[in-house]
Amino acid sequence: MKTLTLGKFSFGMGDRFARQGKAQLRACALAAAAGAQVVPVWNKSNREHLIVGSEPSSVRAEADAAVRALGWKGEYHVDADHIRLETVDRFLAHSDFYTIDVADSIGKPPPAEAIGSFVKRHPELTGRIAIAEIGRPFEMTGADVGRIAGKYLLATQEAGRIYRHIAEAKGAGTFVTEVSMDETDAPQTPPELLVILAALADEGIPAQTIAPKFTGRFNKGVDYVGDARQFEQEFNDDLAVIARAVKDYGLPGNLKLSVHSGSDKFSIYGPIRRALARFGAGVHLKTAGTTWLEEIIGLAEADGEGLRLAKEIYGQALEHAEEVSAPYAAVIDIDRAKLPAIAVVAGWSAAQFVAALRHDQKNPEFNPHLRQLLHVGYKMAAKLGDRYLTALDEFEASVSANVTTNLFERHLRPLFVGA
Ligand SMILES: [Zn+2]
Repeated sequence: MKTLTLGKFSFGMGDRFARQGKAQLRACALAAAAGAQVVPVWNKSNREHLIVGSEPSSVRAEADAAVRALGWKGEYHVDADHIRLETVDRFLAHSDFYTIDVADSIGKPPPAEAIGSFVKRHPELTGRIAIAEIGRPFEMTGADVGRIAGKYLLATQEAGRIYRHIAEAKGAGTFVTEVSMDETDAPQTPPELLVILAALADEGIPAQTIAPKFTGRFNKGVDYVGDARQFEQEFNDDLAVIARAVKDYGLPGNLKLSVHSGSDKFSIYGPIRRALARFGAGVHLKTAGTTWLEEIIGLAEADGEGLRLAKEIYGQALEHAEEVSAPYAAVIDIDRAKLPAIAVVAGWSAAQFVAALRHDQKNPEFNPHLRQLLHVGYKMAAKLGDRYLTALDEFEASVSANVTTNLFERHLRPLFVGA
């Protein structure tokens, strides 16, 4: 049987309310027409399902319907994003891509003998590790390897348990496996990534994508905050480590980095593109909230009832700022003093609302605080229920045009087509 293999370039598109599948897929079709084959992946985490009140079957239905409607002939997938052993089961019938989240197990100490036997099993990790593409080789002592194993071994074993649980239910080779470690405090260095990959291979996990935590801040819906040059160095080193791990540990040949971007990390798209070209490497890049924000932009731009609803959702998000921010506290930086009052926003024209929200850093009216609050504020739209969904239908033309343009022009083009 043929193993399900993820294409070289793939792009994760979350869609909180499952209405934008076609508009999203149209962006991939535009990329294909411009010469870049990018595999669309619809991702939705358990957390998003809980907040919206949706079922994993809805993501599969949306993806299949979009593919049928557009006559998309290429590969596509449905990603059970950030699942764990206790949350994966309801995704099993509907997803062919599983992002196994083991961040919570990072730093939990494994039994001492497990560390010792890992170090013994991997003498190649001790000493000078020359990786051709990394200018300066890195060096690990046995103690270093042991320390890193002590931090990550339990997480990789947990990934093995979850992988085997999925494989038992669905059959090995019938789904794409990603392992994610991004939702944790400290970034993983390239040497740590090498140890992690060795441990994942020991567990027999055929990971096709790995999502480390990178240096810098990946706040929701706004640009990268950090040293883009340091990111570029680290991203290059990670690519070299992956190439090495594929060779040394027999991991799948298409293993690639997965960037859980939190959407809109425009200033690192150039560095990512350069690094991929240098290594001939692929990448998976996930977005989600950027599409939901385009829904609000589309509603506001439609003016009248659409604008009124966009303002109402902002007002609700502001009144419930604490509640909607809590699940995302680690990945937002909102200065409350910079959030406009409800009375101020009430007086805004459609153009003013759109200027504040649309991610155009050159526009002096752009407000990243308002944007982050609305990014995490989708629960307020979910609470509106049918009123929100009806508005999406009513203003579909304005909404879908914004969704497609955003994904293609601001994301797919700079990443995969080139300026
Ligand atoms: Zn993530």
